[in-house]
Amino acid sequence: MANYQDVYRNSIDNPEAFWAEQANLVDWHKPFDKVLDYSRPPFTKWFVGGLTNLCHNAVDRHLATRPEQKALVYISVETGAESSYTFRELHAEVNRFAAVLRDQGVGKGDRVIIYMPMIPEAAFAMLACARLGAVHSVVFGGFASASLATRIDDARPGLMVTAGAGMRGGKSIPYKHLVDEALRLSAHPPQKVVIVNRGLDKGMSLTAGRDLDYASLRDQHMDARVDPVWLESSEPSYILYTSGTTGKPKGVQRDTGGYAVALAASMRHIYAGRPGETMFTTSDIGWVVGHSYIVYGPLINGMTTIMYEGLPIRPDPAIWWKIVEEHKVNVMFSSPTAIRVLKKQPAEYLHKHDVSCLRNLYLAGEPLDEPTARWISDALKVSIIDNYWQTETGWPILSGMPGIEEQPRKFGSPGFPVYGFNLKLLHEGTGREVGVNEKGVLVVVPPLPPGCLSTVWGDDKRFVNTYFSNFETELVYSTFDWATRDEDGYYFILGRTDDVINVAGHRLGTREIEEAISAHPNIAEVAVVGVQDGLKGQAVMAFAVVKDASRIATPEAISRMEKEVMATVDKELGAIARPAKVHLVTMLPKTRSGKLLRRSLQALAEGRDPGDLTTLDDPASLDQIRAAIAQWQETK
Ligand code: AMP
Repeated sequence: MANYQDVYRNSIDNPEAFWAEQANLVDWHKPFDKVLDYSRPPFTKWFVGGLTNLCHNAVDRHLATRPEQKALVYISVETGAESSYTFRELHAEVNRFAAVLRDQGVGKGDRVIIYMPMIPEAAFAMLACARLGAVHSVVFGGFASASLATRIDDARPGLMVTAGAGMRGGKSIPYKHLVDEALRLSAHPPQKVVIVNRGLDKGMSLTAGRDLDYASLRDQHMDARVDPVWLESSEPSYILYTSGTTGKPKGVQRDTGGYAVALAASMRHIYAGRPGETMFTTSDIGWVVGHSYIVYGPLINGMTTIMYEGLPIRPDPAIWWKIVEEHKVNVMFSSPTAIRVLKKQPAEYLHKHDVSCLRNLYLAGEPLDEPTARWISDALKVSIIDNYWQTETGWPILSGMPGIEEQPRKFGSPGFPVYGFNLKLLHEGTGREVGVNEKGVLVVVPPLPPGCLSTVWGDDKRFVNTYFSNFETELVYSTFDWATRDEDGYYFILGRTDDVINVAGHRLGTREIEEAISAHPNIAEVAVVGVQDGLKGQAVMAFAVVKDASRIATPEAISRMEKEVMATVDKELGAIARPAKVHLVTMLPKTRSGKLLRRSLQALAEGRDPGDLTTLDDPASLDQIRAAIAQWQETK
């Protein structure tokens, strides 16, 4: 077995040699001429001149060696559906989907929005786009029409793929009216919408001239063969939108060759999964974890991937362990919130199944607290590997790397820098490196390794300004996370430096939620903060100033108004962004120059000292906030 330190040092000191070797893990239609082009910092191109295709690497490549092995197992506890596809069957389905898309004019470089629940067709659609060289942009199925419209207008897709309905907690969530509304709201709606009808929305009708029923189109292409379109390594594979400081989500643009290599290498070194084994990732295809470790990563590595639709506690809290036992899952990937949800259930559910096939459980997306890590590790008797990364990087920045070397773990730490990531912790003000156990901003010294975002879709300037312009002293990529490093080299993530809220591992922008709330006609102004939450890590809390105070004169009226504000967020952004609590006030705490004292608000909501208030304009504003919070705590 190799030694982590040597591998890591080599990746930083000799990146070209290191990554050239990793590139052997995937197929190249034409070999690359050059490993790295960093002639225009901070823009980075990996495997220049190489031609490859993600779908070929995820599917076709395995036809020779494992055609009858299961590639995708689909389990929906929502509908009771269970199905599986061998690599041969997956290949056939992806070709059919690709033929349907090609018939509708989708080709290289065209954007396709995929707004889908967790059904196999969502993965087929992604792989079909990759096959055609089209750029998919998957929008999480829980986002509402306005969010979908914003992403449509930025990506400008010619076509959208959707489904009749999603299912959550036993309830069907029809998509059709959400899609219609999103297309009505958008300035550049797609011309065609391909709909996978699950039969869950009986009243669904297709819009003539625009909507197409996937099942009947598929029937016309049962034997279709669509050759993969070979892309130059740096050409985009997909766009995935994520929240930041402004109200407008950023389109993280991923390349093709770098991503394929980064994923293939991570499957081996970090996730320690072997071809022929099974991986179960409980995320959703709408998030980066779903892209990298439900769809592309395991398939590129020749593994069986499990696609799961449902909650962790239905039909009972043993469901995931039942799946692990039945499908002999070797590698599992989930989130700390999901484990905290399970922790609240009777312990017996953890011991109903034999999970000895499971080697490691990976958790990511939000800080993993020590008690949760210890609890699940003791209960399952498996190693827990906390891995830290972001939509932008596409794969882990910090992690244990059992595929390289088993290292002792410290609960509460995602471990060490992953090969390829040259990390520093910088002092926010001076830009100098901080010392042992001192808090700093976690940055990556460019060039960013393969697989990371190549730019912000359609906006190179925003890419540079957002990520690379935070320190005057040196050109570095900011993760926007605070971190420390201890005397043994273990990193600890302390939370975001910006106004991003992390609810159950999902990144939400405070500005986005504020803009959504402002759509309510009786709200004049609003401040949104993330407040510590025992289950979800953080919860959204809003402080809203009403325009017409007479509308909140009674407790009933207040409660009504709070509900209206929440409903506005549901409609504008989706229920995942709904505030856990809306406090109605008549003014917000601001400095004399009008700057909102957001950090003080957050501190008060978390029961901490609000900090320096010398610049506060009107002390009465803070008294109101204190009173509102005190009252809320009493009723909690
Ligand atoms: P997203 O791009 O939505 O995956 O969110 C990325 C952000 O989630 C990071 O910048 C961190 O703030 C947080 N995050 C992800 N993984 C971890 C982890 N293992 N520990 C602590 N924070 C994490």
